[in-house]
Amino acid sequence: MAGNLLNKYQKMRDFGVTPEPAGKIKPVKGKKPIFVIQKHHASHLHYDFRLEMEGVLKSWAVPKGPSYDPSVKRLAMMTEDHPYDYASFEGVIPEGNYGAGNVIIWDNGGWEFIEPGHDPVKALTSGKLTFRLYGKKMFGEWALVKIKGRDSGKGNEWLLLKHRDEFANDRVDVTEVAPNSIVSNKGVDEIGAERTWESNRQASPRRAPTLADKLAPPKGPSPRLRGEGGAKRRVRGDSTKAKARAPRSRAASSRSRSSPARSTPKAAPTRRRRPR
Ligand code: MN
Repeated sequence: MAGNLLNKYQKMRDFGVTPEPAGKIKPVKGKKPIFVIQKHHASHLHYDFRLEMEGVLKSWAVPKGPSYDPSVKRLAMMTEDHPYDYASFEGVIPEGNYGAGNVIIWDNGGWEFIEPGHDPVKALTSGKLTFRLYGKKMFGEWALVKIKGRDSGKGNEWLLLKHRDEFANDRVDVTEVAPNSIVSNKGVDEIGAERTWESNRQASPRRAPTLADKLAPPKGPSPRLRGEGGAKRRVRGDSTKAKARAPRSRAASSRSRSSPARSTPKAAPTRRRRPR
């Protein structure tokens, strides 16, 4: 019965082709549930925000990613439950598959339910959930609030927002200062097919920089950070335009599987379009 939670996920994918995990429901244990944010360069770049609940990962696609500015509300489209094992997936979903494109683990850690009530699943059903994140980039109190009464919506539109607390910050754009994988330290376009791996395998020994590293004063050029500082400073909160302007990384431009849709900067996504 619990397996039903993953039916939609499994029907949408061919696990003979995609390296994503087929997955199973994880038994719920006593320790703190996990969260993961995967940066996913599919037809449009977005951030997949996932919270462990009921042995699976409840998931939202956030086109612009999270913001520490409490006055900024980020659209978050709820997507199908993903298996627990998906949290350790970083790699390439091959062309022709659902969500084809590169995936990096942008942040992860534990999370804690705050309110309303005592049951996070009920809170989710009620359309409002506040929680605390213990990540490497994501800290403090956040909320997911379902948008109600929008005729045009598909009923899956939520907002992700930062609560006012000691971590709230309207100056630092976390997606800009800390763009890379916390596992491999690679940018989303630097992951190649040969880099595909699944859970439990040891990733690159290079230490991923922490947000504190990013905010520290520069110590001169470091090979560890190569490929990260090249892109021009971008307009806050406008990832689409910034992506079009930013030079493609060498790894990305030498990839053979580039599609025209990805390399042309023209196609600005409509806000409602569901990223995959
Ligand atoms: Mn996605």
